[in-house]
Amino acid sequence: MNTIIIKADKGSLREEDLQAASNILHRGGLVAFPTETVYGLGADALNPKASKKIYEAKGRPSDNPLIVHISDIKHIEDIVRNIPNKAYELAEVFWPGPLTLILNKKPNVPASTTGGLDTVAIRLPAAKIARDIIAASGGFIAAPSANTSGKPSPTKAEHVIADLYGKIDMIVDGGESTLGLESTIVDLSGQDPIILRPGSITKTMLENVIGNIEYDAEVLRRSINENIVAKAPGMKYLHYAPEGCLTIYEGDIQNVVKAINIKAKECLDLGRSVGIIASKETAGLYEYGEVKTIGSRKDENSIAAGLYGVLRYFDKNHTEFIFSESFASDELGQAIMNRLLKAAGYRIVSVD
Ligand code: AMP
Ligand code: MG
Repeated sequence: MNTIIIKADKGSLREEDLQAASNILHRGGLVAFPTETVYGLGADALNPKASKKIYEAKGRPSDNPLIVHISDIKHIEDIVRNIPNKAYELAEVFWPGPLTLILNKKPNVPASTTGGLDTVAIRLPAAKIARDIIAASGGFIAAPSANTSGKPSPTKAEHVIADLYGKIDMIVDGGESTLGLESTIVDLSGQDPIILRPGSITKTMLENVIGNIEYDAEVLRRSINENIVAKAPGMKYLHYAPEGCLTIYEGDIQNVVKAINIKAKECLDLGRSVGIIASKETAGLYEYGEVKTIGSRKDENSIAAGLYGVLRYFDKNHTEFIFSESFASDELGQAIMNRLLKAAGYRIVSVD
């Protein structure tokens, strides 16, 4: 398939490019576009044939449901029934933005979009390009991360090109995603609200609006051996993974650096390639391997934004062994460590 690549200028699309994207989506085709979280792979969410194409292009298991993206809060009622007040309260504060709500679906949302579930995931993104495309294309666009299933999510158009070029109709290059981690997912379809996936909208931020909310057990997983069934089918334990063997080192940072230096030298001596995921504050302390700075410990947003780009960098170089520092695990750190642990398949070494 011929994939058209178009560039968005200063956060918005030219009229003719918007029209071209919308024509493809109306016809049931696939368009990747930037959102503030990561790049999404868009298809008409109400057209079963179109959403099926997403699964084919990504190699995504068909039981892993898609998030339906809307461009205006008023459209929530078109696809969802029995909307609880908490949904409106959260939407009012956090939409447009990186929050996905799970609600009971109306019959017009096809089973192929929801993985056969009776609920649907819905989000109103903040990125203008995304909202313009959604509004021009029928208003209900399924848009999972625009990567090959299982790989780190794409935060730049070049990541989408690496995975999906030749498999989809169009890629809109709108520069780097500002947040760099997927949306927070809150399940409001049952009795009590549950966080199924942590993200930039943190537990505390949610609780400030709707009161007590718990994490799904999968979010708190610390080992691959724990017998947990994730409520979000896409949050299974091996995900976001680079090709190389990623291990996280946790504990006192001086000990972490020392342990990684020893391991890195061992691997290099055996003729293997080594990558190190460090923070701005510690990058200078590593003596071996290729050191990539993920962000600053003083600015968690920079770490969230840098994570997938660094994992993808090591993929591009076919780095065999990757050693990563661990990061604080509260608030936004909860989301960062959740993705890092999944990427590492919960391979974690404690050095204290
Ligand atoms: P992605 O679009 O790649 O960010 O992945 C969407 C995530 O939302 C996956 O983890 C899905 O399992 C989850 N999800 C989508 N719809 C539902 C739903 N109805 N119930 C629970 N989780 C969902
Ligand atoms: Mg994804």
